[in-house]
Amino acid sequence: MNIKDHIRSIPDFPKPGILFYDISTLLAHADAWQETVRQLSDAVRPHKPDLLVGIESRGFLVAAPLALSLGLGFVMIRKRGKLPGDIITHSYDLEYGTDTIEIQADAIKPGARVVVLDDLLATGGTMAAAISLLRRMGAEVAAAQFIIELGFLNGAAKLDVPAQALVTYE
Ligand code: 5GP
Repeated sequence: MNIKDHIRSIPDFPKPGILFYDISTLLAHADAWQETVRQLSDAVRPHKPDLLVGIESRGFLVAAPLALSLGLGFVMIRKRGKLPGDIITHSYDLEYGTDTIEIQADAIKPGARVVVLDDLLATGGTMAAAISLLRRMGAEVAAAQFIIELGFLNGAAKLDVPAQALVTYE
């Protein structure tokens, strides 16, 4: 079972000139998705996390089944304004402008060992921001795990934790 065979690339989305890697076809194929979760479990287990963290929104699709598979809890990092209660907010620079992510203030205890999940690593900006936010809470970030890495963008260089992907496009 080759996971790459089930990832579709769509030109000019969301903007002209961007080749978008679409995981909808992977999610829709029962065997391919099961194999993806199995491979993610094997990659993440050695880091011995106490907790998994998923980044909105496709990171949730990765983190939730993995948490069940590994018998761990799962915490959400969300975009601005979506989480109730006390939250911690983190703003970070984009190429043009800024973006903001949030987490519930009581979601992670200081010293907890976490692995952070997203579907795809491009420039690394999103994951670097998530790692900064988690460290502000006192979390120990053991690794960043993705399904897909766009190797030519060199996003892993922006991350000071091990960054792992199941599939790489050069
Ligand atoms: P980065 O911050 O690393 O530049 O971008 C990664 C974020 O953008 C991830 O949250 C990911 O979901 C999203 N993203 C960027 N390009 C793609 C793509 O081609 N396919 C998918 N599925 N997500 C993408």
